[in-house]
Amino acid sequence: MKELRYLNKYFYKYRTKLLWGFLITVVARIFSLVAPRLIGNSLTAVENYLQSDNSDLSTIKQILLVNILIIVGTTLASGFLTFLMRQTIINVSRYIEFDLKNEVFWHYQRLTQRFYKNNRTGDLMNRISEDVGKVRMYVGPAFMYSINTVALFIIVISYMISIAPELTLYTVLPLPILSVTIYKLSRIINQKSTLVQEMLSKMSTYAQESFSGIAVIKSYNLQAQAAGDFNALATESYDKNMDLVKVQAWFFPLMILLIGCSNLIVIFVGGNQYIQGTIEIGVLAEFIIYVNMLTWPVAVVGWITSIVQQAEASQKRINAFLKEQPEIESGKGIGKPIKGTLEFKNVSLTYPETGVKALDNLNLTVPSGSTLGIIGNIGSGKSTLLDTLMRLYDPSEGSIYLDGHNLKEFQLSELRNNIGYVPQNAFLFSESIEDNIRFGKPEATEEAIQTVAKKAAVHDNIFKFKEGYKTLLGERGVTLSGGQIQRVSIARALIKDPQILLLDDCLSAVDTDTEEEILSHLKSVTKNITTLIVSHRISSLKHADQIVVFENGKIVQQGQHADLIEVDGYYKDLFEIQQANSSK
Ligand code: ADP
Ligand code: MG
Repeated sequence: MKELRYLNKYFYKYRTKLLWGFLITVVARIFSLVAPRLIGNSLTAVENYLQSDNSDLSTIKQILLVNILIIVGTTLASGFLTFLMRQTIINVSRYIEFDLKNEVFWHYQRLTQRFYKNNRTGDLMNRISEDVGKVRMYVGPAFMYSINTVALFIIVISYMISIAPELTLYTVLPLPILSVTIYKLSRIINQKSTLVQEMLSKMSTYAQESFSGIAVIKSYNLQAQAAGDFNALATESYDKNMDLVKVQAWFFPLMILLIGCSNLIVIFVGGNQYIQGTIEIGVLAEFIIYVNMLTWPVAVVGWITSIVQQAEASQKRINAFLKEQPEIESGKGIGKPIKGTLEFKNVSLTYPETGVKALDNLNLTVPSGSTLGIIGNIGSGKSTLLDTLMRLYDPSEGSIYLDGHNLKEFQLSELRNNIGYVPQNAFLFSESIEDNIRFGKPEATEEAIQTVAKKAAVHDNIFKFKEGYKTLLGERGVTLSGGQIQRVSIARALIKDPQILLLDDCLSAVDTDTEEEILSHLKSVTKNITTLIVSHRISSLKHADQIVVFENGKIVQQGQHADLIEVDGYYKDLFEIQQANSSK
């Protein structure tokens, strides 16, 4: 149970509630003992009445009536307390589930890009839902039934021993067999249901991908093949389910068989003792009730053991992620407004996963308020450069300075709040357009949102939608074109009023006229802020104060547009090709 120890802090947090749950459980069990006792007592009273000649019918009626009333009262009380027991303990398990999910989610968010590259999304989702769910079974039901069983056992068994020690021995003898059998069965059931779960997630992943890619499937006429693949998965899933059902079907019959055996033993041994006169008829009746009272809790021991094992395995998976430390840590902060002078000194970055040296001994200064244009082949390290500024990755060698301070000295929030970043593959959330833009500044007014949308030349498009800025995006909303997504994404960056603006090839999907329009708007916005703009179009960059050409992580050309078109090289070649194309 090493891994599950992690949860002790939560048990501690909810200790008062759990203590109450514990007390209530014990009291509920004490109440539930009254009924068998009185049933036995009533039987003995009736037997005595039948055997003696001179007793009075009204006395026995009196005794029975009182017994019945007490049985009804204590059963109600025990039932109510059992309800309270569930209410306290199961509720606590839900609180802990809630806390743990939040903790995992929060932790996920602190982890770096590298973590997300190395782990599959499905896996991340599973650990926060399935695994946390399994752990909840341990903090809730397993915990509750353990207390219940232990309380019942201590109270019932000690009481049974006090009235008929030998019969007690025979009564509890078959119970361990029951417990072990249930444990074995639960384990098999758990293993099989894990397989069923896996198949289920395979099927839903497949279905989801086919729906997303339905256009491709149709255009390549692959419907029949897709249906065939799905059918194969479904058949496999069917087989796994049948496997599971076959084992599950054993569960209750086996339990009933074993309970039946225990009953037989009690009736046989107890009956003999009664005939010999060692016990009263009431004791025999009581014991038969106890056997049935004890069987479920004992069966539960097997079940709990298997739940705890599963929870342990799940918690291990959760802990593995919780132990991951983000390798990018926040600095202390410099506590001054950021001006935006950037300096790269001997910066290199090698991605350990691929061994690719994406930045190679880079030296570059970008004065505050100036614009840097970046151009170069695909894979030459342009995006990586911007990522290092956001500290999504840290350089493996060399350092980056902002206003003369090493980037690592800044608090991550301080740094990122001042940067407006438009990534190469812009991502919009399945919310309204307005909320997507507001993401950059939660308190922004509608007016401010429209202003930036106009600057990003997307206002007119949005305006044409029936719902305007309230238009929902994503699965249940409209799908924007690539260019529209890029422009909304630009608006989202602009609304932050950043001191540094990073545009990563974010005009690739808009036509040249719109591009011109956006650039001319941006000119007024970016006049005083440091701007880094990556593009494949010379037209986007030519007004930049400084342009660098990247090749294999190195700067191979540097200067202004007018200078660069004079020298032979990548820039001049590209310029000539694009000129020729535009004049066609
Ligand atoms: P560009 O933006 O100029 O197209 P990138 O900066 O995206 O280039 O990539 C530079 C090089 O680093 C490429 O060879 C790419 O394959 C590699 N690379 C980029 N991101 C990663 C990553 N997260 N892990 C490993 N290698 C990467
Ligand atoms: Mg790129």
